[in-house]
Amino acid sequence: MIVMKFGGTSVESAQAMERVTGIVKSRLDRKPVVVVSAMGKTTNRLLKIANLAVGGQRDEALRELLALRDFHLRESGMERTVDEHFQELSELVKGLAVLGELTPRSVDAISSFGERLSSLIVTNYFQHHGLSAVHLDARKVIVTDRRHTQAAPLLEESYKKLAAAIPPLLESHVVVMGGFIAATEDGITTTLGRGGSDFTASIVGAGIGAEEIQIWTDVDGMLTADPTIIPNAHRVKVISFTEAAELAYFGAKVLHPSTVHPAIERNIPVLILNSRRPQVDGTRILSKTVASKNVVKSIACKVNVTVLNIHSTRMFMAHGFMRRIFEVFDRYETSVDMIATSEVSVSLTVDQPERLGAILRDLREFSEVSVDENQAIICIVGENIRYTPGVAASMFKALGKINVRMVSQGASALNLGFVVAGQDLAAAVAALHAEFFSELDPAVFDA
Ligand code: ADP
Ligand code: ASP
Ligand code: MG
Repeated sequence: MIVMKFGGTSVESAQAMERVTGIVKSRLDRKPVVVVSAMGKTTNRLLKIANLAVGGQRDEALRELLALRDFHLRESGMERTVDEHFQELSELVKGLAVLGELTPRSVDAISSFGERLSSLIVTNYFQHHGLSAVHLDARKVIVTDRRHTQAAPLLEESYKKLAAAIPPLLESHVVVMGGFIAATEDGITTTLGRGGSDFTASIVGAGIGAEEIQIWTDVDGMLTADPTIIPNAHRVKVISFTEAAELAYFGAKVLHPSTVHPAIERNIPVLILNSRRPQVDGTRILSKTVASKNVVKSIACKVNVTVLNIHSTRMFMAHGFMRRIFEVFDRYETSVDMIATSEVSVSLTVDQPERLGAILRDLREFSEVSVDENQAIICIVGENIRYTPGVAASMFKALGKINVRMVSQGASALNLGFVVAGQDLAAAVAALHAEFFSELDPAVFDA
């Protein structure tokens, strides 16, 4: 058994689904479960529609909804299915327009339609192109807590359901399910967070004890940098689970950060592959690191980060300063990515701006806080960083005159991270890429 997950661009059109059908057909002997994302940019479009509806632009929301319906109809030809789903969606949208308020639960109700539809559409496409496919509603087999829009899977329950439902179907069918969507124990629809279809694939893989989890996307694999910044970034052929997790957490969007956890637990290899170029070997993510002459495996970055500089002279030599700071972040369920401290000051980065106003208000009760918006975190990642002297020196030398606002080394032995102003991001990544990837070890990189 293998799990094959196809992302939004891999199922964005009838033509893309034809490619997917070919890829799945050539792997039938491995008994694939296919996990699909919403078609193209559907999730973004659904969220935009929800926001228009609650923002007093009901007619605009309904117009956008109609365009999204036409897109699904055009690419799938499934009139009844599409109509039924969009009928329900338009009622939801009208309801939101009346209420004028968007709760996390209704965000999930709306955004779930992308994967609900795409999974039915892909199943139907397979059936009409010679595959014996069966649809499985992910909400029946993946159980989560109630944290809407960021729900955490209840793994043991989910594994039990997956192991009971899927293997018998695979005897004679290709199973198709939507990624990203799940449900609480009482059946309310939840989602696993943006980019969460990768995570679904890995939960399914662990649940059925798959021999491999394949993440099919629109690039050749994990690359040495974000290809939108470094267009000629190189493919990393093998990488460890810990390195991949670190890269994903710090912005390599090609993999959802939680993806590796279920896979590690059951030691299932994860592959990243390109659905437009299936002949390329992609990236293999394994539990062991492959020795490499290159210190750094890849550079990750996160944009739109806010840096808070928290300062309190009253707290000089007093204990409890850190506790008070983190209590505030805990209260507003906001996570901190990077932190640097001195005796009376703490700098930290946040990339969820939603609760920032309240956080600042509470922090200012006991400290002075300055805020730098539009910053970027850049991380160089590689297991060898911890064994190699002089990496920080090479990094700073490459950065030259670019102003580094914050540095973090040591917290994670395989990651050296720092913060620059957003406008310096591209130059900084380019300088580091030239520094660390001018020579490539062919055992690990596709030169
Ligand atoms: P999918 O819809 O298939 O899940 P995503 O858009 O979520 O695809 O992720 C793939 C994208 O991740 C690529 O198109 C690329 O722009 C981006 N990306 C960012 N960093 C990296 C990296 N280090 N390696 C590969 N892709 C990356
Ligand atoms: N469709 C969801 C999103 O856009 C999940 C995914 O694509 O992985 O976030
Ligand atoms: Mg993705």
